[in-house]
Amino acid sequence: MSKLKNKVAVVTGGNSGIGFGIAEALKNEGAVGTITGRNQATLDASVQELGPGFIGLQGDVTQMEDLERVFKDTSERFGQIDILVVNAGGVVDGSPMAAIADVTEDNYDQYMDLNLKSSYFTVQKALPYLNDGASIILIGSSAAHRAAPGMTIYAAAKAAVISLAKGLSLDLLERKIRVNTLSPGSIDTPVFGKLVPQQHLEQVKQVWKDLIPMGRLGLPSEIGKAVVFLASDDSSFIVGTELLADGGMTTIS
Ligand code: NDP
Repeated sequence: MSKLKNKVAVVTGGNSGIGFGIAEALKNEGAVGTITGRNQATLDASVQELGPGFIGLQGDVTQMEDLERVFKDTSERFGQIDILVVNAGGVVDGSPMAAIADVTEDNYDQYMDLNLKSSYFTVQKALPYLNDGASIILIGSSAAHRAAPGMTIYAAAKAAVISLAKGLSLDLLERKIRVNTLSPGSIDTPVFGKLVPQQHLEQVKQVWKDLIPMGRLGLPSEIGKAVVFLASDDSSFIVGTELLADGGMTTIS
């Protein structure tokens, strides 16, 4: 039986990588709803691939008015929202993670805005449209637990996201809204192409694979299945916690 039949979901950044894998997994369990992103072409292609039940709404998660519009339009189309996946984030366009001497104040702010501030305000702007009993899943990162060169600001932002989930879960318990973090390890998505030139892509992926006890990168579909668990009643007593899906990467030092 479908675990999420007719549940209404919003997945930010659902037009690429992990977000698309999450939307597909939710859809496979019967959910309907909205994926968001800024790129209209990839939104259209992703909606087409998902098939009936999902729409694409353009929006930048660092812009308050875009967030407000996405949730208003979703609830007008589908009714109140049951599942919110705060996934958009990662690498700032045209500003790959950098060595400490090369980080500018703008660069720092952009990483914090995209990965931390947007997570908080995505939840805040969704609240008027969320059903009591809804499930919110914030996408963190194993980077919050395992340092890597040049990823300091991103990792700190994601560590703060894990903390956000704890605080928000207490704030929202009176509405029986559960908030948890799902932290992926290294997952095979287009993000690698934003970090390194094409000619080094396979070499860099191999470096990451060598850090993972399971010996491979994760798949967006595997993150999707973990999100389905946190979105469904199967996790009804789990709140304010972090689930790591990292092939064991953070179990070794
Ligand atoms: P991708 O680069 O493939 O996807 C990023 C998504 O975020 C895209 O859908 C993009 O859409 C959206 N996005 C980026 N900036 C904005 C913005 N300002 N406003 C709205 N949407 C935005 O990366 P992944 O799928 O790999 O990453 C997804 C999440 O998973 C991120 O939070 C990332 O930090 C996290 N993560 C990824 C890991 C990995 O190994 N891949 C590991 C751990 C965590 P668009 O460009 O159209 O706006």
